[in-house]
Amino acid sequence: MRHFSRARKAVDGITIALSKGRIFDETLPLLAAAGIEPLDNPETSRRLILPTNRDNVRVLIVRATDTPTYVQYGAADLGVAGKDVLLEHGSDGLYQPIDLGIARCRMMVAVPAGFDYQRAVRQGARLKVASKYLNIAREHFAAKGVHVDLIKLYGSMELAPLAGLADAIVDLVSTGSTLQANNLVACEHIMDISSRLIVNQAALKLKRAALAPILDAISRVVQR
Ligand code: ATP
Ligand code: MG
Repeated sequence: MRHFSRARKAVDGITIALSKGRIFDETLPLLAAAGIEPLDNPETSRRLILPTNRDNVRVLIVRATDTPTYVQYGAADLGVAGKDVLLEHGSDGLYQPIDLGIARCRMMVAVPAGFDYQRAVRQGARLKVASKYLNIAREHFAAKGVHVDLIKLYGSMELAPLAGLADAIVDLVSTGSTLQANNLVACEHIMDISSRLIVNQAALKLKRAALAPILDAISRVVQR
């Protein structure tokens, strides 16, 4: 019966939201441990819905900042998102069972080489700070009691101090080579960042039978 098969699909079908690049690449071995292999590569394919070796599992390719949205509304049951993205987006309706320890980097304050950040802070200067991560930046400076004017950017934060838009930036740093190439130095560590598994809270109940083995397999490889 048609009605029945649709209901079955809703209960058994699993949709996973991933962003391409480092999150997709570093999630592949974790999915493989759960017996899931995407049958297409987002770097070479333009398809946004990738089938997998399992009939009832598919992968959506989404923008990193959109992953929590897909999972929150139940368009995806599972996703992988950076702590940065989760803190900016908020985590209503999201269950975060596992820190996957992938896509590791640090949220840092950076300034032009030669700008005495500690001195500016001690003197109570009002700093102009540009960032894509306004919530994280706002909380960080509020906790320190530093007055800041925050300027929202969507990318290429390194440019802001060079162009005179801001005194400092708040950005993700891994090797530091982008900062160095733009004559900036990291001057304060805000937090360590890694990516987490996120699960739609309703799916966790309704699709427990299909989801539990996947979550178990992933948590086993992550703990090793
Ligand atoms: P885009 O690069 O398309 O503008 P994005 O920066 O949000 O979007 P990615 O570069 O794919 O997306 O980063 C995805 C996640 O990986 C980030 O949310 C963050 O958690 C982590 N990440 C970002 N930059 C780095 C980095 N330099 N090193 C390690 N992990 C990073
Ligand atoms: Mg990026």
